[in-house]
Amino acid sequence: MNADRPAILGGVPLRPDGPPGWPPPDPATDAALRALIETGEWGRYHGPHGEALRAALAETHGGCGVHLCAGGTAAVELALIGVGVTAGDEVILAGYDFRANAANVLALGAVPVAVDVRPDDWQIGPDAVRAALTAKTKAVLVSHLHGGAVDLPAVRALCDEAGVALIEDACQNPGATVHGRPAGTWGDAGVLSFGGSKPLTAGRGGAVLVPSNPAGARIAARVRRHVGRGNDLSPLSEMQAAVLLPQVRALAERTRIRAESAATLRGIAGLTPLAPAATAETTPGFYKMGFQYDPAAFDGLPRGLFCAALRAEGVAFDPGFAALRSQFSGRRVRFVGDLPHADAAGARCVVLHHPVLLTGGADLAAIPAAVERVRAWAGEIARTVPLPNEADTLEL
Ligand SMILES: *Cc1c(COP(=O)(O)O)cnc(C)c1O
Repeated sequence: MNADRPAILGGVPLRPDGPPGWPPPDPATDAALRALIETGEWGRYHGPHGEALRAALAETHGGCGVHLCAGGTAAVELALIGVGVTAGDEVILAGYDFRANAANVLALGAVPVAVDVRPDDWQIGPDAVRAALTAKTKAVLVSHLHGGAVDLPAVRALCDEAGVALIEDACQNPGATVHGRPAGTWGDAGVLSFGGSKPLTAGRGGAVLVPSNPAGARIAARVRRHVGRGNDLSPLSEMQAAVLLPQVRALAERTRIRAESAATLRGIAGLTPLAPAATAETTPGFYKMGFQYDPAAFDGLPRGLFCAALRAEGVAFDPGFAALRSQFSGRRVRFVGDLPHADAAGARCVVLHHPVLLTGGADLAAIPAAVERVRAWAGEIARTVPLPNEADTLEL
């Protein structure tokens, strides 16, 4: 057998143990959980851990106000409610985005207005937002996706000029610095997720960040009114807060390491990163590291087979999101124009799961090696391996 034969064709995987897991073993989390059991605090609704988490998140996010809640999706809904989105309002968002963001707008009876993304990094940009503004626009919802960084100075200025609210979804890049400010602090409301696969994880959970000024206080008051119905509708437990605390304390260092690792994956032919190169002003943050996949650089190998071949090597590549246009009808979502780049993102984005960016070392070095192995055999893989059903592997 040819030693270099890719695993998908029966060869030996480069990483036989598969990609590193998440969350990683961490003595600080173990200690936090043990302390909860010893004190019995694990069973409390409210307590010191939630307060400490709010303080730690405020400190790492420029002194903003923090509302903890049940999940990132819940946080997006609360942010929309917080900035006053109601039935009939329009909310502009990218035509390539987390599906639940559009669903959240619909759930409030408002209209998602989906615009095209930029061709170079597949992020929403100011020109597309400007062209979609109408008298009904209430808010612009931007997500930094797959390591990308939305041009927030420009989008912020545009929202201010138009008098519409800005919601910044930083679920995928907590700890990142975007044009000199912590991700999640550019908006009238910012959103974090503590979901099970996210860089900050408690299995579930999320947060709404609001500026510490009178406008932010009004948004926070609306959020509290909505969730406080004599009982908290969208709580984060003490147990969740306790495991998040050490992660928030480690966030800056981990973000730095992930950005350094990601920098080693730039320059692979046929895989153009969506993340900007780090600068003094911008340190990208990673949940998934996204790339523009160019099949022509891989002998025409379809994206689904590229991902399957890399996963067989023990490297966690998956297709990215489906474009919103393939998931929502034009009766529910207003699509502005043809959105060719959002469609391209839906068809050609591949994402690398983040844990390997933290472990680094041999796990990281295996990635370009695995990509080159797949490239060398791409023609044979395309000819002999059936295309997987992408609906089974798409990010949801
Ligand atoms: C993960 C994610 C969310 C929220 O997800 P939850 O699983 O509900 O915490 C929101 N937006 C984006 C872009 C995400 O990636």
